[in-house]
Amino acid sequence: MQNLKLYNSLSRKKEAFKPITEGRVGMYVCGPTVYGDAHLGHARPGITFDVVYRYLQHLGYKTRYVRNITDVGHLVNDADEGEDKIAKKARLDQLEPMEVVAYYTRSYHRDMALLNTLPPSIEPTATGHIIEQIQMIEKILANGYAYEVDGNVYFDVVKYNKDHAYGKLSGRNIEDMMSNTRELDGQSEKRNAVDFALWKKASPEHIMRWPSPWSEGFPGWHLECSAMSTKYLGKRFDIHGGGMDLVFPHHEAEIAQSCASDGHDAVNYWMHNNMITIHGQKMGKSLGNFITLSEFFSGEHESLDQAYNPMTIRFFILQAHYRSTVDFSNEALQAAEKGMNKLMTAIDTLEGITTSNESSLNVEDYKQKFYDAINDDFNSPILIAHIFDVVKQINSIAAGNGSLNEKSKNDLMKLMNDFCFDILGLKKIESETEDGLSDEIMEVVLGLRKQAKENKDWITADFIRDELAKLNITVKDSKDGASWTKK
Ligand code: ZN
Repeated sequence: MQNLKLYNSLSRKKEAFKPITEGRVGMYVCGPTVYGDAHLGHARPGITFDVVYRYLQHLGYKTRYVRNITDVGHLVNDADEGEDKIAKKARLDQLEPMEVVAYYTRSYHRDMALLNTLPPSIEPTATGHIIEQIQMIEKILANGYAYEVDGNVYFDVVKYNKDHAYGKLSGRNIEDMMSNTRELDGQSEKRNAVDFALWKKASPEHIMRWPSPWSEGFPGWHLECSAMSTKYLGKRFDIHGGGMDLVFPHHEAEIAQSCASDGHDAVNYWMHNNMITIHGQKMGKSLGNFITLSEFFSGEHESLDQAYNPMTIRFFILQAHYRSTVDFSNEALQAAEKGMNKLMTAIDTLEGITTSNESSLNVEDYKQKFYDAINDDFNSPILIAHIFDVVKQINSIAAGNGSLNEKSKNDLMKLMNDFCFDILGLKKIESETEDGLSDEIMEVVLGLRKQAKENKDWITADFIRDELAKLNITVKDSKDGASWTKK
C-alpha cells in the first residue's frame, strides 16, 4: 500500500522513494530570507513540505526536517553585488540587522503556525554557521575549484564544469550561461562571468562582517545551505526541497559546492514546488499585487474582498498539485472556503451517524484510493477529489440512502482523520463571534467561574464577572448554567 513515488527534479522522472538509511529520512528545505512579512510565496513551500514531512512520519519514518533561516549573504540583486537584503532593511528602518532578523523570524513563525505547519526539527541560521561555511570554502579551495582575489573567494564554474556537469539540475549548459551573462566589464575580478562568490570582502559601510582567512567579510548566499545541510544531515541525504525559483542559480550552486568539496552529490531527491500567481501575474512588490499572509488573514488589502482563514489558504494551496502553478483570485479562495466548510461539516456528520448492521460503503476501496493518490508524488488534488467522494457518501448515508456498520464507521473516521488532519494538516476552524471572541475560550472562562461558585469562592467568581463586564460582556446565570452576551 505504501509505495511512495517522488518526482525528482534532477532525473526529471518519478522515482520510487528509498531512504539511504532504513527507517530514517533526512530532508532539507530552503527557508526564508527574513527581511519582510511572509506572503503566499512563502506559504506554498511551507505547506508543500509540511505535507511531505507529515506523510513521511505517517509512514513511520523517523524524519529529520531541517529548514534554514537566511539572515546574511542574500544580496539585493541575487547576484554577487548590491546591498545585503537584511542590512538594507535595517538601514531603512534604522534598526540593527539582528532586530530585523528577530522581528521577521517571529512573524514568519506566527504565520506558519497559523497555517498549521509543523515546526522543522532543526532551524539553523546562516550567521550561526559562519565557521562551517569557512571550512567548506577551505575544502573547495584545496580541491582547486575556487580562487581568491583581493579578499574575495569565487567558485570557478568553468574549471568545475570540466570535471563535473554544471547545470544538470536546471538543464542549462555553460555555453548558454556564458552568453546570457553580461560580459565582464574589465573591472570585475572574476575569471568568468558565471563564477559566483563563496566569500565577499565587506566594504567599509557593510555592517554584517566576520573574520576569515581571506578578509573580514561575509559568506555568499548559496554556501549556507550546503554547509548546514552537511552539518545536520550528512554528506549524503534523502530529500532537498524548495521553490522552483531556487533551481538556478541557488540549487545548482549547492550541487556544485557539495561535489567540489566532497566529490559527490549530496542529495538523492530534489523536489521543487511551483509558483503562485495573482490573476495570472507573478507576485511582486513593484507590480502592486503583493499581499502578505497577515493581510490575507485580516482582509486588510485593497485586492481582497474579505478576510480568509489560514485553513482556507491551506486548503486552496492543497487543491493544486505542488508542481502546478496556482492562481490566486478572491473567487478561487471563496470556492476553497466553501469546499473546506463542506468537508468539515461532513466529518462532524460522520461522527453523528447511527450505525446499523449493514454497510453500503467499502472503506478499504477508499483507503486504497487515498494512498494511491498521495503515493503518486503527493497528488493532493486527486486525493481531495477522493475525499469529496466520501463526503458525498457520508451526506447520502446521513440522509437515509445507505448505511454504515460499527466497524465501517470507525474505519472511515480513522481514514478521514488520518488524511484530512494528520497528513493534509487541515484543522477545524474555530467558531468566532463577530466580536472576535472565541466560543471555546468563553466556555473555559465560564467553566472557571462555575467551579469557583461551586467551591464557594465568591471572590474569584465575582472577579471573573466584573472583569468580563469591563469588556462589555454580560454573564447571565440560569438553571441550565451561564450564558453570555456582548454589547
Ligand atoms: Zn537554500
